[in-house]
Amino acid sequence: MRPFSYTSATSTAEAIGLAASEQVRFLAGGTNLVDLMRAGIEEPEHVVDITRLPLDGVEELPDGGLRIGALARNTRVAGDARVRRRYPMLAQAIMNGASPQLRNRATVGGNILQRTRCGYFYDRAAACNKRVPGAGCDALEGFNRMHAVLGASDSCIAVHPSDMCVALAALDATVNIAGRDAAVPLTDFHRLPGDSPHVETVLAPGELITSIDLPAARPGRSVYLKVRDRATYAFALVSTAVQVHVENGRVAGARIALGGVAHKPWRAHEAEELLRGEAVDDDLLRRAAERSVAGARPRAHNAFKPELATRLVRRALEETTS
Ligand SMILES: Cc1cc2nc3c(=O)[nH]c(=O)nc-3n(C[C@H](O)[C@H](O)[C@H](O)COP(=O)(O)OP(=O)(O)OC[C@H]3O[C@@H](n4cnc5c(N)ncnc54)[C@H](O)[C@@H]3O)c2cc1C
Repeated sequence: MRPFSYTSATSTAEAIGLAASEQVRFLAGGTNLVDLMRAGIEEPEHVVDITRLPLDGVEELPDGGLRIGALARNTRVAGDARVRRRYPMLAQAIMNGASPQLRNRATVGGNILQRTRCGYFYDRAAACNKRVPGAGCDALEGFNRMHAVLGASDSCIAVHPSDMCVALAALDATVNIAGRDAAVPLTDFHRLPGDSPHVETVLAPGELITSIDLPAARPGRSVYLKVRDRATYAFALVSTAVQVHVENGRVAGARIALGGVAHKPWRAHEAEELLRGEAVDDDLLRRAAERSVAGARPRAHNAFKPELATRLVRRALEETTS
């Protein structure tokens, strides 16, 4: 590991002041950053520990929503009675991720900013445009079973690995960033790879996430479903967060997000549109599930993903509309 200097910040202003350089990283739970530093993939010159900042609360918002501090631990968020009652799919998504020990340590901000689990990104002998811009992408012709089928590019087919972010995308959560007047919708926070996959979010170097806001809970039922190779402690092959409100047998509102399929949590707007106002029946749910992966472009080893995603979304729609 490359030597680095370390400061434990005592205020948000101090943390931001210390971090105004590309060579600085904030340390939250450390469950992703420290692994990346040990592997020589992240090599900051300076690490600013932010765990002493007062950003770990869960507060009511005047509009009936909730504000969750960037340093709130995943276990705490998933266990919060208000989250469980008003946003059950968020609690389910968090509990589907990692292990109890990791969730006790990992924070909301760190979860949003965790980096891909693409094996070629972690292998310093492999070509990876995300790790070394312009180096090429060995995943394109390599073992790409876990990789993206939506929104990918010829520069990068890595996926964003977070479970929590899939639920946040479906819930229309927004991300608050220190020093910015307007919050960023979670769905606009992560970028598609294009030809600059190393730029993963709209966050500039040194910017600090302070919290996320959840809008007031919407009527209807929701569920988070995840398919993975092991029953626990594994990243998603495909996951989905679905919320549907049915009134008088018709869909009054629908929100569908997918994980494990793209460089960012993937919101399936076209499928939501297809459902809106329609009478619920098997054919409608089948067509909406198929539409949720419209435009999918599988690679050599992940041709199963569009079909798996279709089936998973359909199951989630059946559960939330029955
Ligand atoms: C074995 C293993 C299995 C896992 N399985 C899953 C899984 O199934 N599903 C899943 O979703 N996740 C999984 N994870 C990932 C885990 O959820 C993340 O490692 C964790 O959420 C990161 O949070 P952290 O607080 O530890 O972040 P850190 O490691 O501290 O930080 C991660 C990044 O975020 C930046 N950062 C942190 N907070 C802020 C902030 N407030 N503002 C700006 N930048 C910030 C850091 O500088 C760093 O770049 C797994 C991890 C491991 C090690």
